[in-house]
Amino acid sequence: MHKSTLIRLSAGALALAGVWTAYTQNAPTQPLTFKQLKDDLWVIEGTSNGASDAGNIAVLVTSEGVVLVDDRFAQDFPEVMSVVRKITPLPVKYVLNTHHHGDHTGGNAQMLPNAEILIQANARKHMIDTHMPGPPHITFTREASVFLGGKEVRAVYSGRGHTDGDVAVFIPHDRAIHLGDLMAGTNGVTNPVMDYSSGASLKAWPATLDGALKLDPEIVIPGHGAVTDKAGLQAHRNKIAAVLTCATTLVNENKSVDEIGKTMVTEFDFKPINLRPLDGLITELKNAN
Ligand SMILES: [Zn+2]
Repeated sequence: MHKSTLIRLSAGALALAGVWTAYTQNAPTQPLTFKQLKDDLWVIEGTSNGASDAGNIAVLVTSEGVVLVDDRFAQDFPEVMSVVRKITPLPVKYVLNTHHHGDHTGGNAQMLPNAEILIQANARKHMIDTHMPGPPHITFTREASVFLGGKEVRAVYSGRGHTDGDVAVFIPHDRAIHLGDLMAGTNGVTNPVMDYSSGASLKAWPATLDGALKLDPEIVIPGHGAVTDKAGLQAHRNKIAAVLTCATTLVNENKSVDEIGKTMVTEFDFKPINLRPLDGLITELKNAN
């Protein structure tokens, strides 16, 4: 990538930091496709056209109704519900949000009249602070489980990463996990995008993913991109740790934001969305020393 592009991007990262939500909410909607993962579990897939895609939705069917993990953009609500109708006639009873961003919570306002929605407490605060529609009625700090039709869905908070309010949502009997944007991209292994306006931390991210690995999932649903497995999650965790090690070295060497950006592009194939939080990253790693 040309140097002047990098400089423009890093300046843009600062300007964009406060309007993350607006950026994701304005993204174009994509056609919905869905896929069965287990007898009672489906994924409604986002597409893989880039960072502005809507998030993946997990659909768990129980004898007493449906549990969703995330609900995409507001404009996707009718199509999401039509996909659920193709899977089961039962109603959506619960939605668990992986974090607050609008491509994962945009359907909340239309879900709330008929379903309870749970979100980590920090994530709900970000929704309130940025006047997002559909803040859930129920929060938790470390862990919460929904029990429906004899099945459990468990949201587990293991620390900061993409924001300070991301959870992994684990479905024990299917050994399936939805990671939200703690893992987001095409091909499983992806680069980190830190929303520093919402408490993100690259330093904490590997340990947060270790919390998800401890749950020993077989099926790993990323926030965006193709469904993978535990080995894919382990490889993703190792890449995030490698990015952290490399960035820490560069910051300790007092490299400039565009030098760090250039290295991230060549070493880790960073895309423009990964470069947006570079100023915040340098601040985080400097303060950590
Ligand atoms: Zn996000």
